Amino acid sequence: MKIQDIQAIKLLLSTPKKIAIIPHRGPDGDAMGSTLGLYHFLLKNNHQPTVISPNEFPDFLDWIPGANTVKIFEKNKENCTKILEEAELIFTLDFNALHRVGEMEHTLAKLKVPFVMIDHHEKPHDYATYMYSDTSFGSTCEMLYNFISFLDKKEDIDETIGTCIYTGILTDSGSFRFPKTTGTTHRIIADLIDLGVKNTVIPTLLFDNSSFGRLQLLGRALQNMKVITEHKTAFTTLTQDELDSFDHVKGDTEGIVNYGLSIKGIIFTAIFIENKEEKIIKISFRSQGDFNVNQFARDHFNGGGHHNAAGGKSEVSMDETIEKFENLIKTISI
Ligand code: 5GP
Ligand code: MN
Repeated sequence: MKIQDIQAIKLLLSTPKKIAIIPHRGPDGDAMGSTLGLYHFLLKNNHQPTVISPNEFPDFLDWIPGANTVKIFEKNKENCTKILEEAELIFTLDFNALHRVGEMEHTLAKLKVPFVMIDHHEKPHDYATYMYSDTSFGSTCEMLYNFISFLDKKEDIDETIGTCIYTGILTDSGSFRFPKTTGTTHRIIADLIDLGVKNTVIPTLLFDNSSFGRLQLLGRALQNMKVITEHKTAFTTLTQDELDSFDHVKGDTEGIVNYGLSIKGIIFTAIFIENKEEKIIKISFRSQGDFNVNQFARDHFNGGGHHNAAGGKSEVSMDETIEKFENLIKTISI
């Protein structure tokens, strides 16, 4: 991060402020962990922070310290708009383009106060006054740890802030397996454990907290999987009817996309999930190695993300979406 930007943010934070902290729509562990970690840090420094999520976060993240204070824009637009309009400073975390907050974009675009972006996605848009944008990091939470250190406030990181940061590093690194996991990542994790962060409990809260319905939904997704060996690709689908029949709740489909990559020889995988309410097919892409799913999502499915993990959407039917995908697979080299 630029020295001038750090100095400017230090100055802004030197007097108590009303601050809004925003994750992307459909917040994941990194988005929730980083926004809440920053929330606790700002609280400790006498500010009045509020985390405003564009929509609901999944239940499996509801134990993160401070999750009960998060305001949901979609559920209370009037109150959230007021908080945003009164904010003297805005932090946007774990995304880098305003359209990632959905409807809330219109409100954010009108605000005249400084914006700080902390994010690790590719191709940042130019909306923030101060940017800490770096695609070499595996998570925004790892960047938040650095950000607090840049402000000479590393000693403020306690068990609570550490728990939030640990959550995002763990989830976005695929439990420390993805390529951007470095020695430094592990040294940060070691520091967090020394602060009392419950490294053996958090994975259980995140990953071993499933409902029976979720497990059955996973079973269905695995049964629906199609493997195209010659193109090193596996993909699966879940229709709205399938989701409904297993009493699906938000977050139940999280992580299912990764199973395709556990098949020997498969380096590209996707899951297509029907959302009747939004009239879209939401897509997640994952790859191993050189195949750039960020580019693939941008080029063909109105999306984006990272080199090995990206997402997008389709506004035609599931059948048409799958037909398009299967045709594409045949034309590109994977
Ligand atoms: P997931 O598949 O877990 O929803 O998302 C994987 C990555 O791709 C995340 O970093 C997420 O921010 C990004 N991503 C997911 N959906 C979209 C989308 O529709 N547009 C863009 N630009 N990025 C997305
Ligand atoms: Mn992230």
